[in-house]
Amino acid sequence: MDDDIADLAAALSAAEHAVVLTGAGISTESGIPDFRSKGGLWEKYDPFEVASMATFVSEPERFWAFHRPRIDMLSSVEPNAAHRAIAALEGRGLVKALVTQNIDRLHARAGSHDPIEVHGSLDRGLCIRCDQRVSLDELVARADAAEDGVPRCSSCGFQMKSGVVLFGEAMPAAEIDRAYEEAASADVMLVVGSSLQVSPVSELPGMVLGRGGTLAIMTEGDTPYDGSAQIRLRGRAAVQMQQVLEELPG
Ligand SMILES: [Zn+2]
Repeated sequence: MDDDIADLAAALSAAEHAVVLTGAGISTESGIPDFRSKGGLWEKYDPFEVASMATFVSEPERFWAFHRPRIDMLSSVEPNAAHRAIAALEGRGLVKALVTQNIDRLHARAGSHDPIEVHGSLDRGLCIRCDQRVSLDELVARADAAEDGVPRCSSCGFQMKSGVVLFGEAMPAAEIDRAYEEAASADVMLVVGSSLQVSPVSELPGMVLGRGGTLAIMTEGDTPYDGSAQIRLRGRAAVQMQQVLEELPG
């Protein structure tokens, strides 16, 4: 057993308020490519451009030509052992909150109770003009029924988007507030699969360290906190989270 795995299990076991923070790296093992890495849709499109509020507003057909297959791709994947291990730790009371940058709903599908989704979620459709909200199924049905592939609001006629936060769009304030509150209460923070480059998530580990808390990072690539984290793991999250679970008494 890796010493760092044992240290992480011990830290979670002793924690009063452990918070888990996840990013794209936890879902790559479910088959969702990180847009910062090579492969798939992201090689054909510049995500910063096509997944932007500007493209959604001015070129809805192009926006939806990209997003419609992406919804199918995200709906066809399954949670992996890392998602399930986090849900199991919540169930045992060892993890009090989960903050995620992911919009793929895999944490909820793995059984996590109430993930704080700071970049929004694919679980709904909405109109940015009049705030009409619909289910994801309804959003997809409207897109598929439209000749140009663009789902529209039944109240005001404007094109609709999913609940995923676009580049150039404000992040959901309530979720951001909750993420900061959890970081302010955390004595242990475990980061899984995030490179901690994007705000607000990039600020949360510093809050924990600033109060003398423990930071554990389980991310394959480098992060700005590598020098200050007490526990640093670089292997596959699905394997390592399963090992952490096994290290802890059931
Ligand atoms: Zn509307």
